[in-house]
Parts: sequence; structure tokens; C-alpha cells
Amino acid sequence: MPVAARPLLYQCPACGWRHIVTPIGDVLLGEPAACLHCGHHPLSIQPASLFQAALKRLLEFRQS
Ligand SMILES: [Zn+2]
Repeated sequence: MPVAARPLLYQCPACGWRHIVTPIGDVLLGEPAACLHCGHHPLSIQPASLFQAALKRLLEFRQS
């Protein structure tokens, strides 16, 4: 399993909505152009930490 892909954390400065996009596994949603919660844009984009990426993976695992 490749580990080169770096997840990105999209955060809404208006309402605090956050979304992590991993290059592999988020093909359907892709990169959000605006907040999916309140519609604010632009979103702040920063590299997601390893902890956040691991947490996202854990949450996805629990949902499946
Ligand atoms: Zn928002």
C-alpha cells in the first residue's frame, strides 16, 4: 500500500467544518470548493497531520 499520498485538511474559517481529503479513497467527493456545511469559501487548506489522517481512517472503519 503506497504511503506517498499526503492527505489535505480542508477547514471552514466561518463555521469550523473540517474535511480531510486523501488522494486515494475520496474519488467521489473530491476536493470541496466550498464548505459543505455553510457554503463559505474559500476554505483553508493545510496538510493533515498523521494523527488526523489516522483518526479519519478509524472513523471510516467504524462506519463500514
Ligand atoms: Zn462553513
